[in-house]
Amino acid sequence: MSVETQKETLGFQTEVKQLLHLMIHSLYSNKEIFLRELISNASDAVDKLRFEALAKPELLEGGAELKIRVSFDKDAKTVTLEDNGIGMSREDAITHLGTIAKSGTADFMKHLTGDQKKDSHLIGQFGVGFYSAFIVADKVDVFSRRAGSAASEGVHWSSRGEGNFEVATIDKAERGTRIVLHLKSGEDEFADGWRLRNIIKKYSDHIALPIELPKEVAAAEGEEKPAVEWETVNRASALWTRPRTEIKDEEYQEFYKHIAHDFENPLSWSHNKVEGKLEYSSLLYVPSRAPFDLYQREAPKGLKLYVQRVFVMDQAESFLPLYLRFIKGVVDSNDLSLNVSREILQKDPIIDSMKSALTKRVLDMLEKLAKNEPEQYKGFWKNFGQVMKEGPAEDFANKEKIAGLLRFASTSGDDGEQVVGLAEYLARAKEGQDKIYYLTGETYAQVKNSPHLEVFRKKGIEVLLLTDRIDEWLMSYLSDFDGKSFVDVARGDLDLGNLDSEEDKKAAEEVAKAKEGLVERLKTALGESVAEVRVSHRLTDSPAILAIGEQDLGLQMRQILEASGQKVPDSKPIFEFNPAHPLIEKLDNEQSDERFGDLSHILFDQAALAAGDSLKDPAAYVRRLNKLLVELSA
Ligand code: ADP
Repeated sequence: MSVETQKETLGFQTEVKQLLHLMIHSLYSNKEIFLRELISNASDAVDKLRFEALAKPELLEGGAELKIRVSFDKDAKTVTLEDNGIGMSREDAITHLGTIAKSGTADFMKHLTGDQKKDSHLIGQFGVGFYSAFIVADKVDVFSRRAGSAASEGVHWSSRGEGNFEVATIDKAERGTRIVLHLKSGEDEFADGWRLRNIIKKYSDHIALPIELPKEVAAAEGEEKPAVEWETVNRASALWTRPRTEIKDEEYQEFYKHIAHDFENPLSWSHNKVEGKLEYSSLLYVPSRAPFDLYQREAPKGLKLYVQRVFVMDQAESFLPLYLRFIKGVVDSNDLSLNVSREILQKDPIIDSMKSALTKRVLDMLEKLAKNEPEQYKGFWKNFGQVMKEGPAEDFANKEKIAGLLRFASTSGDDGEQVVGLAEYLARAKEGQDKIYYLTGETYAQVKNSPHLEVFRKKGIEVLLLTDRIDEWLMSYLSDFDGKSFVDVARGDLDLGNLDSEEDKKAAEEVAKAKEGLVERLKTALGESVAEVRVSHRLTDSPAILAIGEQDLGLQMRQILEASGQKVPDSKPIFEFNPAHPLIEKLDNEQSDERFGDLSHILFDQAALAAGDSLKDPAAYVRRLNKLLVELSA
């Protein structure tokens, strides 16, 4: 063993300590995955070297045969992984193996419950990587040297996973990383050639470079120990270059886990080869669960980019729109240059056409999933629906396709689950219905009971119920679907078109005429609070309702703008009343102007409350109501 200098002991970042603790205690049921994780890292390190060496061939230090070796020592109870990839400097080892750089990690850790079963699911979202070594080892030694640096600049990192790690500077002749796992007592089953071979075949067959194990060789005559011969145990070719028909589902799944750092299988994937003017392969996956940092701006997104099989960059963001940022995968281009940079990617017209083709692929894959596996699609929607709703605003060209993938709650269900697609809605629309009706609001409970739905209930017309924060904004980008326009049922002068019979319309006109006097009186009483007063066709049970002007902002948009500190244009609602309601009849017969005023204001305020709005002057409402109550009991 070489001399160690500048030895120091450092503490793990708090999040690492928590992660380690959890890993050691909750991932016991599937311990063998540690090997997959470490091989995955080694493969990434080799990819990085291969790429950097394009510009600086000296990094290869004369050794261009890139590989990973896994060996074991039954007596010492160790398993060793060695790669000749990019390696780590002392500083690299301290930061990469002592902290977690992902944004939002601290927040994520707060979600841990202490319940090991639940937490092991959470941890799947997070990806455990290197630290999984501690599932089977009670001590881990890492010997590494960054490619291109002097032999004297190697690093020895060592830890028992208990809060601290040590680093020292060492001499290391070969570039790359060697990881020695000192197996915990009871875990020595892993120091076995057959076991290791099986694990590698199971999880790492798709790794594109050779993974070698020592072969059992008889000792040559006169020698005590046989010379070690190495044997490649994986297939060692890039998965996406192979024909689809030859790839098993399990291989696709393991490859996904490698590139996505996910523990769970993907929901779906799409593997394609494009030939012609542009040549590229793509393998795109829909994860089965949202990562914890889906809504964090700096969270990693984008595809792994290869150019002619050579890894070029992670998180290449230019190949998919932002609303598809949850898609994982690789794209391997024959047209791009190997020294392509992020800046070039942003401008290159080749990328634009690849982006639109890949976007289509993803949308097609989702359509297929929705059609063939509706239950799975429900799960997809729960995880990623909110993000998909950003689509129509971002991707005008695919608006109709995206709209078809949206799912909403509606009056046809009673649990508020977002399961109704627009095609399904239209398929069961009433005869003569040429609109898609929807209502937005704060909560499902509120919209479900909204007076705006009364006439729709009566006529048996389905209404979509939209209660996500971004729904009103989303609807401002959708004007129609399949030739049918969207109608906000709380907005403007509700026109039910062919759904109202000629008699209905005539009757409504007559009532409106008969109530002109009441309309005028209400206008005077409500004054500045309203934009207009009119007889309603929307109501069957409630006395009154507030409608939003055709061009005005709805409640949700107003609240979003207010919360972001923007000035919101003042808008007044339209007061509509139900002439058949006993309270309105009473109002119509009210002689006292003062009582008329009080009652109209109470009706106005109640309508605002029912719409989920807050009252401008709640004290006045209470005062008026109490006055009436006193009169009633007098
Ligand atoms: P992740 O792989 O998700 O980034 P890990 O905890 O697995 O997280 O690894 C942390 C970092 O340590 C890696 O990103 C890489 O920079 C470094 N690393 C791990 N293993 C190796 C290796 N074999 N060679 C070089 N660097 C490595």
